[in-house]
Amino acid sequence: MKRTVENEVVIVGGGICGLATALALHRKRIRSLVLEKSEKLRATGAAIIVQANGWHALDQLGIGSTLRQTAIAIQRGMFTSLSEKEPKELAFGINQEFRCLKRTDLIKAIANCLPMETIRTGCEVLSIELDPVTRYPHLMLSNGTILQAKLIYQVVIGCDGVNSTIANMVGLHQTKLLRFSTCVARGFTKYPNGHQFASEFALISRGQIQLGRIPVTHNLVYWFLTRPTTSQDSIISKDLPLIRQSLVESMEGFPILTIDMIRSCKLNSLHLTYDLKYRPPWDLLLNNFKKGTIVVAGDAMHATGPFIAQGGSASIEDAIVLARCLAQKMHNSTKVIIDHNVIEEAFDKYVKERKMRIFWLSLHTFLVGKKLDTKSLMVRAVFLAIMFVLFRDPDCHSRYNCGTLHHEEED
Ligand SMILES: Cc1cc2nc3c(=O)[nH]c(=O)nc-3n(C[C@H](O)[C@H](O)[C@H](O)COP(=O)(O)OP(=O)(O)OC[C@H]3O[C@@H](n4cnc5c(N)ncnc54)[C@H](O)[C@@H]3O)c2cc1C
Repeated sequence: MKRTVENEVVIVGGGICGLATALALHRKRIRSLVLEKSEKLRATGAAIIVQANGWHALDQLGIGSTLRQTAIAIQRGMFTSLSEKEPKELAFGINQEFRCLKRTDLIKAIANCLPMETIRTGCEVLSIELDPVTRYPHLMLSNGTILQAKLIYQVVIGCDGVNSTIANMVGLHQTKLLRFSTCVARGFTKYPNGHQFASEFALISRGQIQLGRIPVTHNLVYWFLTRPTTSQDSIISKDLPLIRQSLVESMEGFPILTIDMIRSCKLNSLHLTYDLKYRPPWDLLLNNFKKGTIVVAGDAMHATGPFIAQGGSASIEDAIVLARCLAQKMHNSTKVIIDHNVIEEAFDKYVKERKMRIFWLSLHTFLVGKKLDTKSLMVRAVFLAIMFVLFRDPDCHSRYNCGTLHHEEED
């Protein structure tokens, strides 16, 4: 007989990871409450590349087939260096399923499958403490500067992104975050009569400037541009026409078709991330990611930077593994009130399963990011050589399978 676990799990942060975790738990009949500090769910950054591993995770959540209808399948990748004549094939992740999703489609698809009142927006978690007697976490919530409530929950999952409050609690201090000196602008360009681009991921580079272009549908194209960060970027990032102007200025020598694409982009889809923080790979190896019944997932655990387009998919994988581990332990427990140790065992299992996966993703992103950060051809060659040795298989990350949400003991 199916048993619904009455214990409530609180998830801090309603981004991709928080929502995916709530849905994965819901699929395992565990109730959760998502606390999101923004007034409504956000989908900043236009689109997200999802490779085969991410699609597998979305299928486990039961939303893969709905989302496939919103984004065309990308057939191949092409890399063009403007200093060389011939384009080369770009193998990275393309040999398997590869699509680019509108972030709003992804967020909506997940949120629509959650029971009513799972998500509480406008609810920021200010701090978290462990009760000295029960060892259960206390969450301090705030509305602006006014302390609004004090809630007590047994299980807390921190999905509150790169500047995570919960990560501090488990020892992943924000002061340990480092920064890339490359910035990334992203946006959409709409072609009401259809665009002429092939179903391919095109990457065009000149020196330290790189432009990526991926069709989402037959009349919508997602693109991103990476360039060295400048001292003006904090000002530029606040002014959409200025972002567009700065991008066009940096694209000297790029094909006119790509410059026109940026010129005619949807202004309200534009976003410039100039302060790209990442948790260094070695920090991931040294940390535990949990304290008592508190654990972290998504960027709160492994902010990697965007350079291999895996952060979002890795966050959905976290959700699947975490829900599976929790459900296995909680459903097997004979006690009505779930014991502290049961939760800790589940979290230990989750951390063990995720650690090396996110280490390799993080190391690869670090190497690609550092290669972009440097002007020195010598240093670039060193990073390329390391990557050639460690990540020669272009599908090594996308072939990863986080497993299923189903487990033998249920049904
Ligand atoms: C430029 C760029 C391009 C990228 N491209 C890709 C890509 O193509 N493919 C890919 O897979 N990944 C990509 N990523 C990575 C991906 O966006 C992230 O890994 C993913 O969004 C992480 O999701 P998250 O839910 O962990 O964090 P977030 O998306 O940051 O969500 C955290 C949420 O928590 C909320 N929050 C924060 N603090 C609190 C608090 N104290 N109380 C309550 N709520 C709080 C925030 O408002 C937010 O909604 C990219 C990242 C960048 C920067």
